[in-house]
Amino acid sequence: MSKEIPYKIYLEESEMPKAWYNLRADMAEKPAPLLDPKTHAPATLDMLSQVFCRELAEQELNETDAYIEIPQEIRDFYKMFRPSPLVRAYCLEKKLGTPAKIYYKFEGNNTSGSHKLNSAIAQAYYAKKQGLKGVTTETGAGQWGTALSMACSYFDLDCKVFMVKVSYEQKPFRREVMRTYGASVTPSPSETTAIGRKILAEHPGTGGSLGCAVSEAVETAVSSEGYRYVLGSVLNQVLLHQTVIGLETQTALRKYDIKPDVIIGCAGGGSNLGGLIAPFVGEQLRGEANYRFIAVEPASCPSLTRGRYAYDYADTGMICPLAKMYTLGADYIPAPNHAGGLRYHGMNTMLSALRAQGILEAVSYKQTEVFEAAEQFARIEGILPAPESSHAIRAAIDEALRCKETGEEKTIVFGLTGTGYFDLAGYAKYNDGALENYVPTDAELEASFSKLPQV
Ligand SMILES: *Cc1c(COP(=O)(O)O)cnc(C)c1O
Repeated sequence: MSKEIPYKIYLEESEMPKAWYNLRADMAEKPAPLLDPKTHAPATLDMLSQVFCRELAEQELNETDAYIEIPQEIRDFYKMFRPSPLVRAYCLEKKLGTPAKIYYKFEGNNTSGSHKLNSAIAQAYYAKKQGLKGVTTETGAGQWGTALSMACSYFDLDCKVFMVKVSYEQKPFRREVMRTYGASVTPSPSETTAIGRKILAEHPGTGGSLGCAVSEAVETAVSSEGYRYVLGSVLNQVLLHQTVIGLETQTALRKYDIKPDVIIGCAGGGSNLGGLIAPFVGEQLRGEANYRFIAVEPASCPSLTRGRYAYDYADTGMICPLAKMYTLGADYIPAPNHAGGLRYHGMNTMLSALRAQGILEAVSYKQTEVFEAAEQFARIEGILPAPESSHAIRAAIDEALRCKETGEEKTIVFGLTGTGYFDLAGYAKYNDGALENYVPTDAELEASFSKLPQV
């Protein structure tokens, strides 16, 4: 007899994961190795340790341990905002008139407003353990900078954030949250770094880009004693920490004997999507189950749907290791859109490999389609979603509507990565009918691909 499924499936503290899941251990075909940006030799622990904390560099290269224990201090911090609920979207299902069953894993219940705190706290912990003074990072829309400033203040670490200049100007409130948690926030490009000065000389008046902010943060870390650079997405270590999302989801579903058919997540650098699907991909790779996995991205920054699978720089400054990934080119500056957290030119290497192996599907949506879904969701499920998260909502609604036509009772799980309280400028444009849809032409993408490094 099947149990009645509550609106929210919560886990007990004792059911929270005690280890992160490292998907690479179960991948027969591993992602291509990271390469030294200058010599093109495979990245070594020593090389990565100059940029990243030692233990995080080890996690970055670890392809053999399926489980990596979550230190007790991190588990204790997680307890302040986790486990996050897995919500059955009964109201949305009814509104859509679909026989599909829709669930979402909600990661917006913390002050940073997104899943990013899951990795921020881990990265701050390892930096502290290594005896560092502080960390540097970039932030685009501001979610990562906020999460990291929270994590750093908890462990008493200095936190220097380079914030993409357009966001710095458009999102003063996020900046103030970061400052309240003790971080210093510099608009990027800035005069404080060589790469910033170079970019300002070449592009006076530029609003900046994530890649440029990454370069400034890396330069500051490597030239300051006792500092390391930390990153909020793209890297394997970040995806590893985000597997708490998928592991909790897996436990919650098992509690009620629910087997998902489709698992959907939005994809910027890939960390929430990877974290959500990793344990389920693992089941599939081990031959235990079969699922459909769908990545959803903006049509204005379509790395998985229209990008090249090639080695590329992770940052415009070309200091980070080269990664083989679906990319639009490190110089590609996507059109401004209101899903700032999804405006990255590349994609995590594990997800890129899964895409190349045909395990991960990908779709893209224009921002008006995304905001329509956000509005529909907000009105019926109550939560005001982040524009990034709303990409996954759009895809989940479309899948549910297809089920309505075919009569299939599919179970759909999607990741609701965060809330949209700081994205009201985007909502205002949508409400005013002033949102523009920008889709790059093939010629624009080709021009960018022609500048990919020859490896
Ligand atoms: C940063 C962010 C994303 C995208 O980042 P990934 O690393 O691709 O997960 C998605 N949603 C929200 C709310 C974010 O802040």
